[in-house]
Amino acid sequence: MGKAKVSMGRVYLVGAGPGDPGLFTLRGAELLKDAEVVVYDALVQPELLRLVPKDAERIYAGKRSKDHAIPQEELNRLLVEKARAGKRVVRLKGGDPYVFGRGGEEAEELAASGIPFEVVPGISSVVAAGCYAGIPITHRDCCSSFTVWTGHEEPGKAKESVDWAALARVPGTKVILMGVERIGEIAQALMAHGMPASERLAMVRWATTGKQETLESTLGEVAEEVRRRGFQAPAVTIVGDVTRLRDKLNWFERRPLFGRRVVVTRTREQASQLSARLRESGADAIEIPTIRIEAPKERTPLVEALAGLSCYDWLVFTSPNGVSKFFEYFFKSFDDVRALGGLRLAAVGSATAATLKALHLKVDAMPEEYLASEIAGAIEADGCVENLRILLMRAEVANRELPRKLEEMGAIVDDVAVYRTVPETEDPFGVVEDFRERGADWVTFTSSSTVEHFNARFDLLNLRKAWPKIRFLTIGPETSKALRTLGLEADLEAAKHTIEGMMEALIQIETEAGAGISSPRRKGLIR
Ligand code: SAH
Repeated sequence: MGKAKVSMGRVYLVGAGPGDPGLFTLRGAELLKDAEVVVYDALVQPELLRLVPKDAERIYAGKRSKDHAIPQEELNRLLVEKARAGKRVVRLKGGDPYVFGRGGEEAEELAASGIPFEVVPGISSVVAAGCYAGIPITHRDCCSSFTVWTGHEEPGKAKESVDWAALARVPGTKVILMGVERIGEIAQALMAHGMPASERLAMVRWATTGKQETLESTLGEVAEEVRRRGFQAPAVTIVGDVTRLRDKLNWFERRPLFGRRVVVTRTREQASQLSARLRESGADAIEIPTIRIEAPKERTPLVEALAGLSCYDWLVFTSPNGVSKFFEYFFKSFDDVRALGGLRLAAVGSATAATLKALHLKVDAMPEEYLASEIAGAIEADGCVENLRILLMRAEVANRELPRKLEEMGAIVDDVAVYRTVPETEDPFGVVEDFRERGADWVTFTSSSTVEHFNARFDLLNLRKAWPKIRFLTIGPETSKALRTLGLEADLEAAKHTIEGMMEALIQIETEAGAGISSPRRKGLIR
């Protein structure tokens, strides 16, 4: 018998858009969800990588402060190699893959090697930067054309491919990518070929993200301004009269939390809701997971509980993670949700109940608190749980008190670990490094355990010493209490103990600060 032939894979060159995850294409998302290998660049936002299946191989091809980029030839070879091994490979590139991203070279290599490929365009920073900085790239009152070039080329070098005289002469908006380090020479070259020193321009850095910064200047003054502000790449430079419209059209930078760095401390799986709300309000949401959810060490009890599921009267969940993990295993054992049979479901706390409801399951009992008496009361209206068979689906090493109390009340309890939390120590996107170097304006805590885990990773007392301006926002009194036991005070506590409540508190205090009424650590603000 001959060796089975590996069928050829395929490479998708996909534009990741300029940064805001909302600007990614539907086709791109479809492909990422189905990818086996993803090769991505430095300009790709980490949020997009959340779409990638957990078991897919992720290869970082860009440059980060400490490590070097994979050389282009090696990268081309890698794409070919993975496709030949039968993989679906997504090559994710910032903006549009064919705009100055060497995507053309990668496609040529694939074509030459006979690898099937597809190219998915992305929203390029060429157009996106202006949109988010309040600058339309064309406007009938100003111009009817635009010209885009790379500022990577050194003006005055022997074999220039940029024709400066022509560029200076051509009317319309001018857009320069990659030119931050050479902006002085670029401006000089344009002025030397006849453009006035008073010509207006704007440089937009990290456009469409919470880190966006815009510098407005003129050709004559830009070099000095960039130096003075320490303005750095990546940025798009837009030259022309359209930049005047910014005063009127600057919708993004006027959002209430724009320019604020806000740390979100949850597991990777859970961070998204708060981060998304923060980003909508213009903040730079920095997701720093401190714990990770893993499979329990001992799986036999779980397997046995699933096999004997029909014997239980009640299934009790004490956290949203318990629900998600349970159903992951459930659907590995059964392919029909009706296998739950007549089991009744209890959820401790509203977030746990919401996770069940999202799966279209009715919650039969919802004890508000993690107390045996509450749970027993919710399960049986008269509080009598005698002889009921209860399956508790919880974290490994959860407190034994709950099952013990229920047993004392006569219930038959199986307390089964469906997940365990372990400290997160990895930093795949360099966010921890960045946080240690640059600090933040706010750190948000959504539970006392996030306080404890964050403290374990960063030592909050020392953090506050190193960054006195960092402020702590908590979801409610229990979480503030956890800070207090560490010798720290919450600077702000949400009046409503939900993500929405946290957003309201933050926006209120930041807009008051913006209006000049700042004094955040004032006692009165801690409600
Ligand atoms: N293919 C990309 C461009 C790659 S070249 C695209 O279509 O956008 C890299 C340059 O793109 C950077 O030096 C910078 O000039 C620009 N750039 C890309 N993303 C950017 C962003 N979010 N903000 C500002 N400039 C960006």
